[in-house]
This record gives sequence, C-alpha cells and structure tokens, in this order.
Amino acid sequence: MVDVVVVGAGFAGLYMVHRARELGLDVVGIEAADGVGGTWWWNRYPGARCDVESLEYSYSFDEDLQQEWEWTERYAGQPEILRYLDHVADRFDLRPHFRFGTRVTAATWDEGRARWWVETDAGDTVKARFVVMATGCLSSAMEPAIPGRDSFAGATHHTGRWPHEGVDLAGRRVGVIGTGSSGIQAIPVIAEEAAELTVFQRTPAYSVPARNGPLDPVEAKEVKARYAELRAANRLRATGFGSRVPPAGASALQATDEERRAEYEARWQRGGFTFLAGYTDLFTDPGANATAAEFVREKIGEVVADPEVAARLAPTQMIGCKRLCLDTGYYEAFNRPHVRLVDLRETLLEAITPDGIRTSAGHHDLDVIVFATGFDAMTGALSRIDVRGRDGLDLRDAWAAGPRTYLGLAVHGFPNLFTVTGPGSPSVLTNMVVSIEHHVDWIAGCIAHLDQAGRTAIEARPEAQERWVEHVNGVAAFTIFPTCSSWYLGANVPGKTRVFMPLPGFPAYAETVAEITADGYRGFALT
Ligand code: FAD
Ligand code: NAP
Repeated sequence: MVDVVVVGAGFAGLYMVHRARELGLDVVGIEAADGVGGTWWWNRYPGARCDVESLEYSYSFDEDLQQEWEWTERYAGQPEILRYLDHVADRFDLRPHFRFGTRVTAATWDEGRARWWVETDAGDTVKARFVVMATGCLSSAMEPAIPGRDSFAGATHHTGRWPHEGVDLAGRRVGVIGTGSSGIQAIPVIAEEAAELTVFQRTPAYSVPARNGPLDPVEAKEVKARYAELRAANRLRATGFGSRVPPAGASALQATDEERRAEYEARWQRGGFTFLAGYTDLFTDPGANATAAEFVREKIGEVVADPEVAARLAPTQMIGCKRLCLDTGYYEAFNRPHVRLVDLRETLLEAITPDGIRTSAGHHDLDVIVFATGFDAMTGALSRIDVRGRDGLDLRDAWAAGPRTYLGLAVHGFPNLFTVTGPGSPSVLTNMVVSIEHHVDWIAGCIAHLDQAGRTAIEARPEAQERWVEHVNGVAAFTIFPTCSSWYLGANVPGKTRVFMPLPGFPAYAETVAEITADGYRGFALT
C-alpha cells in the first residue's frame, strides 16, 4: 500500500511525483512509455516543437532550474524539450519512483478500506490512498477508420506515435492526412525530404508564422533577471502566457481600419500566438473575430502563388475556434511543384488501397501515409482505463453525456481521485505548464490538508459539481468556441458527446479555486 499512485510521466506526472515526495509521501508513478516526457516522448514527427515560447513553456517551480536551463530556440524542438524533461527527472531524482513500460488498465475504489486498487498490464495491483491521473489531454492518438486501412503495402505512421528511429522519407511519395497543428508543423519539413507530397485536407486551419529561430541571449538574460515577475504576470493572462506582448486595446471594432491592420501586421511579423491577443474581444465578438480572420486569409492569398490552392487553404470558421496553428513555411510549401493539396470537401476520401489513397477524383500512389489526425482529447486517456468509483460506478458511464467534474480536479462518485488539467478547467486553452503546476500544487496541498486534519477521503459533492458544469457551459457560451467542430468539443471523435470541455480564462479560475480552498474546500465532502 502506498500513499499515491501517479499515472503518467509527462510535465504533470513528473511534477506530481516531485511534490508528493517533498511531502514525504510514498509515491509510485506508472507510465506506459519507456521513458519520461509524455507528449514529448511520443510526438517525434518531423517539425514537432512547442508553440508557446520555451522561456514560458517550462516549469517555474524551481528557481535554480529555470535559471540554469538554456533553451537554444525561441520554440524548442521535440528533442530539446525531451532533453529538458529528462534533465528534470534526473535533477529531482524522479526516475526511481516510476514504473515505465507499464500501462494502467483499471482503478477500483474500495469504499470499506478507503483505497484505490490500481491494476496494470504487467499483471500487478498497487493499492493507494490517492490516485492522480496525469494521463494527458492529448495523449490518446486517433486514427480514423478509413476503409482499406490495413491493406496499404507501404508504411503508415501517426504523428503522435512516431517511430523513435525516425522515418526515411527521402525519395518517397508521402501522403499526409490532417492539417491541424501537427500536420502544419510536419508538412514543410516532409516537403523538404519527400519526392512527392500530397496533403489531404478536410478543414483548412488558420496558421500564423512562428518566426522561430535561435533564442536571443539578451532576451533570455532579461527574462531570467525577472523570471518570477514574468511567471506571475503570465498567470494573470487568460491563457497563462504572453504577458510580454500586451493587448493593443479592448475592442478590435473600436480601432480604425488602419490601426487594426497595423496592429495585426506588427503581430504577424513578430510571430506566434500573441497575434490573437491584440484585442481582448477577438474570442467573444464574432465581428471583431472576423477582422483577424480576414487578415490571415489575405496573407494566405499573398503567400500562395496559385489562387485556386490559396482559396482551398483559406479557412471559413472563426479564427481561434479551433486551436490556432503556428508554422514555419506551411503556406509556402504549397508553392513547391512536388506538393499537392487535395481538398476533401470537394473530393471524397474513399479508401486506402494497397498502393495509396483513392478519392472520388482518382488514385494517389503513395509509399508512406502520415496520419496527422489528432487525439481523443481530454477524456480519451481516462476512458481507456476501467475506472470504477463508489458502488462500481464506471467513469465512462458517469461521463456518457460529456465529462462532469468539480473544478476539473475531482469527480463525484470517485473519492480520492484527482485529474490534472481535467475537463472543466482551463487546461488546453492555456500554456499547459502553468495549468499543470497550478493543479499539482493544489492536489499536493489538498493531500497535506487531509493528512493534517486526520481525514481519509475527499469527494466532490454532486450539487457543487452540477453548478460547476453549468458555470463552465455558461462561460463557454459567451465565447466563439462552441461555433465550430473542434476537438475542444469532442467533434473529431465519432460518437463522442459534443460538450465544450475546457474552461476559458485562467485567472478567474485560479481565483475561484483559491476561494473554495480557503473556505474549507467548499463543495467537497471530507470524511
Ligand atoms: P502528457 O505529456 O500527455 O503525458 C501523459 C502521459 O500519461 C503519457 O506519457 C502517457 O503515455 C501516459 N499515460 C496515459 N494513460 C496511461 C495509462 N493508462 N497507463 C500508463 N500511462 C498512461 N501545450 C502547450 O501549452 N504548449 C505547447 O507548445 C504544446 N505543444 C504541443 C505539441 C504537441 C505535438 C502536442 C501533442 C501537444 C502539445 N501541447 C502543448 C499540449 C501538451 O500535451 C502539454 O503541454 C503537456 O505536455 C501535457 O503534459 P501532461 O503530463 O499533462 O500529459
Ligand atoms: P487536430 O488539431 O485534431 O488535427 C487533426 C487533423 O486531422 C484535422 O485537420 C482534421 O480535420 C483531420 N482529420 C481527422 N480525422 C480525419 C479524417 N477521417 N479524414 C480526414 N481528415 C481528418 O490534431 P493535431 O494536429 O495533432 O493537434 C492536436 C492539438 O495538439 C493541437 O490543437 C495543439 O493543442 C496540440 N499540438 C500542438 C502543436 C504545436 O504547435 N506545439 C503541434 C501539434 C499538436 P478536421 O479539422 O476537419 O477535423
């Protein structure tokens, strides 16, 4: 019997194990992969890198760590982020507490003994007072069930399960299905190598230039001189990052056309997500949003030489409704003679054949197919575990009509089970490391509180959870997020109930969590 089982060894699991050890708790981490890193262990596709600047997309909990670690690029590539997480694991001596290459298959609450029985695919069971699901919001890869999928004679790879030895694409005819963040990062890099590249696009995405490059040492020095200040300022931003580039104004519609264009242009040239932080109403006012969307469509028209291709690449949904993408040469790639775009809104993807992909307009001969088709986000990793709460309640049944949590941290009927960046919390709408640190600190504080108070269990009360779900839906309804078919809504997974899962706005959320905690964990039953 241990105090805590932590499932996952990404940013969340590593920090949770560290905090549990600081509290003197007996902790076991369980990770399906053979090493630490989570997202950055699995996603090794060409071009994979972060889209929140590395000076901000990194842990803040240890001053020495953030001072000593040197990022080499503005947006570090996957190998560098993985090196960073390996370094963190060694620096804080976390590895000995993990079982790698082991998948948690089931977790069952034993009400009488107030403990969880956690089963793994290694055939063993770990008993624990608490379970922390640090299983990741984007860790459950989705491969669409396209007819003929298994008949393909060449190689197929999902971006989120990319082979560690790499894939030699030189001289190959490559097809990429999907144009979300992963596809958009991979396509220009694959285009460099492949003999022919065919991109199968279902919905065009908005992408702005990352303007990645070597990290300016002067900038890094300036940030490190006031790191705590920057981290604190970021926690006051809705997205948990970007405080170095404040908004120009409250409303895009109050600016003149010239002012607005100049603002968008400056942000386009700067590169990065702060493009959508120019005006605070871009996510709440469709009219304001349309001005930014139109600006990006015009840019696509300027970059892409063939007007027909440019038109197919131009998105029509509101900008930011699906997560904005950052790229390095994405639209430019379509000017290369060996890169072709297939618009699946005009042409149906009928089947995968032994030699490639057949569409309603013809056959594309391929040697390699890349699935950049995304993830069963936010709930996928949890629903792959047989989680049984009180009276055998199955988490999948409890969430059949969409995930229901209290604060994105706990679920009624599942005592002593915590979710890091769970649905109903800002999670994927933020710099994830900010949300992860916030949740892990809260969970550690909660366990310490229970132990000090001599309590054995904590559980979300049903009425508090209901009110919270209503609150999350209410906040989302004020935004443009519910207006398109995004993975935030589960719309990319056939049969998944469509509910907007994350909660927009980190600062208000963090304030609410602090108030609830200070008020004796209001809305929770402590027994
Ligand atoms: P993960 O890193 O996903 O780790 C979860 C771990 O749990 C995985 O290793 C998985 O194997 C393990 N696991 C799951 N189920 C089980 C089980 N049943 N048994 C055992 N182990 C299990 N966010 C940002 O804020 N900025 C970015 O720039 C950014 N870039 C991204 C780029 C890519 C390609 C992707 C896919 C996501 C990106 N994200 C980004 C989101 C990213 O997922 C988070 O930033 C962060 O890495 C999540 O950390 P985590 O520890 O919560 O989850
Ligand atoms: P995604 O955003 O869900 O994109 C998946 C793409 O595949 C979409 O274009 C989707 O089209 C398409 N698709 C899915 N099923 C399909 C089918 N059956 N036929 C044809 N097309 C299909 O997934 P992702 O690109 O992996 O990104 C997921 C999230 O991970 C991102 O939003 C981001 O949060 C994170 N991420 C970040 C970075 C980064 O830049 N740091 C990189 C990768 C991922 P539809 O849009 O029509 O569904």
